Amino acid sequence: MDAETSVLDRYVGERVDSMVDAGLLDEVYDIYKPGADYTRGLRQSIGVREFEDFLKTYLSDGNSSENGSVLLMEERKDDDKVTKENMRKILDFPKDEKLKIILEEAIDRVKLNTRRLLRRQKRRVSRLETVFGWKIHHVDATECLLSKSEESWDAKVVKPASEIVQCFLESESELGHDSTSGKPIERDLWSQYVCEACGNKVLRGRHEWEHHSQGRAHRKRTTQLKKAQTFKSREKQEEEEEVEVAGDIMKADKI
Ligand SMILES: [Zn+2]
Repeated sequence: MDAETSVLDRYVGERVDSMVDAGLLDEVYDIYKPGADYTRGLRQSIGVREFEDFLKTYLSDGNSSENGSVLLMEERKDDDKVTKENMRKILDFPKDEKLKIILEEAIDRVKLNTRRLLRRQKRRVSRLETVFGWKIHHVDATECLLSKSEESWDAKVVKPASEIVQCFLESESELGHDSTSGKPIERDLWSQYVCEACGNKVLRGRHEWEHHSQGRAHRKRTTQLKKAQTFKSREKQEEEEEVEVAGDIMKADKI
């Protein structure tokens, strides 16, 4: 599924804003709060690492509950709640203009990084087509993202997608069986073939292999390789015969 980049960019912006509205900061705070049980991996994800500067500033400005005293579990929970509530107010009712700017910058960075990610994904998908020859069906969701209507989603995404799947399943049941043996032929996209004749060239999947093995260059090389092999084995045979003859001669000598 794809959509125009400009439309996706706008969608990403709206999506991040609504995530912030829905409490993204609370989740990020839970990952960063002092003594929290976090994993490094989680801190690296988009939408978390961008807020590191903001949280550092926010917590060091005396908004943190960590003032050296040991808090009971319940007290700490209440404290977190207050911290989170105050955090939510920063954007709309800022007491501290500087903090608001840092937070807005962090949100902009989340948007920017997500937009970079979507460009990277688009490049990866197009490489699968151009470099690896994948047959990719494109379902364009541009219109749905623009109109945001349920009907447009059904007509432009759900229907074409289910038609593609249907088509795939039908061709699978026609081509997927060897009529003589009745055994299903496995769709083989992942195995590697190494072509010895072509200097150990690697082919991915049966499709690539078949395409390659029917090519003129490959067939020429295979013929040459076969000739070389028969020549070699003939040489070897002759050598063996010579040894046998020599043995016979030695035997004859003894007699
Ligand atoms: Zn070859």
